[in-house]
Amino acid sequence: MASITLNRIVKTYDDGFTAVKGVDLDIADGEFVILVGPSGCGKSTLLRMIVGLEDISDGELRIADEVVNDKAPKDRNLAMVFQNYALYPHLTVYENIAFPMRLKSSDLSDDEIDTRVRRASKLLELDEHLERKPANLSGGQRQRVAMGRAIVRNASAFLFDEPLSNLDAKLRGQMRTEIARLQRSLGITTVYVTHDQTEAMTLGDRVAVLRRGELQQVASPRGLYDQPVNLFVAGFIGSPPMNFLSGTVDGDVLRLPIADVPLDDRLRRAVEGRDLVIVGVRPDAFEDADATERDLEGGVTAELDIEMTEWLGEVLYAYVPYETDETVKEKLSELDRDLDGESLRTELVVALDAMSSIRPGDAARLWFSPDALHLFDPETGVNLT
Ligand code: ATP
Repeated sequence: MASITLNRIVKTYDDGFTAVKGVDLDIADGEFVILVGPSGCGKSTLLRMIVGLEDISDGELRIADEVVNDKAPKDRNLAMVFQNYALYPHLTVYENIAFPMRLKSSDLSDDEIDTRVRRASKLLELDEHLERKPANLSGGQRQRVAMGRAIVRNASAFLFDEPLSNLDAKLRGQMRTEIARLQRSLGITTVYVTHDQTEAMTLGDRVAVLRRGELQQVASPRGLYDQPVNLFVAGFIGSPPMNFLSGTVDGDVLRLPIADVPLDDRLRRAVEGRDLVIVGVRPDAFEDADATERDLEGGVTAELDIEMTEWLGEVLYAYVPYETDETVKEKLSELDRDLDGESLRTELVVALDAMSSIRPGDAARLWFSPDALHLFDPETGVNLT
């Protein structure tokens, strides 16, 4: 097992494009770290540099405290699980798992190979399918064979590149749980690339968010959700995404398109010297004021016109149209190029208790706490709260 340390890692491709711009990241022995970000942010490039499939242009990569920049992939003792699993169709499950050991078979006896294949397949619940060919396995079973191969090599770390993106939603959910369980029971250092924020939020001990080759924030899933460092992380993490509104400072009040919020100490510090901020508020920050048992004192109650609702069984989403400021729109559209159009909504999304009786056309009284507001600098996008 091993720690992995990235020190100012840079990747400039031959055409002069810099895909990774000086990334620092410390991955502890046994830790499960997710690299997440929109398409093209450099996450696969970063993973490929760790495994040795791509040269490092600048900076230092250490595995278990040894600098490995110039080491060949096979000498790094890392196991990579790819999106397409790379299984051999003409070999059985058994032979597919045994394959990497046969490659460096010089020092492994057939008995030892057999023991390792059986141990791994038991762990992965593949022991009943050892004689099957990949074509006769489900997507999830193929995935497990690919992991089995990585396990038998006694690699010092697992590297995953979007391993679940070929699976349907249900299987993806199951495999996600399985990978998490397996990683925990093996305690093996794992780096996992995905653009799916649900995977990022549920799998990792820590999540590293990348944008345009730069690391934005590394934190626990909870840390990213509760304390995003900037607009980008705030908009990228969370589903449905955080709502962004304009906030105009007017004396002791912060005016939002949906309500006026009295400035408390925290908000006052954040707006100091500014008259305009971007205000972020998550859909789950709201409650139906007429249904909640919460004490409404200390929060803000706004009467809002409900345009549409969506009932999903466990939650009710209500949509409220609002006007936003031009500066805010401009900033969000810059952000939006990386966020698939999600952040430029012109409606507020509110997540309510599924039992809520709020319906389209209602003027609903919705409550939120000022503590739930994130204030961002409209120029830099930095979180001020
Ligand atoms: P995705 O989720 O779409 O796979 P990613 O975050 O994994 O995206 P990378 O594959 O790491 O992104 O690519 C990062 C950037 O580097 C992209 O803009 C890509 O076009 C560019 N890139 C990748 N390979 C090369 C190459 N061989 N030469 C030049 N540019 C490249």
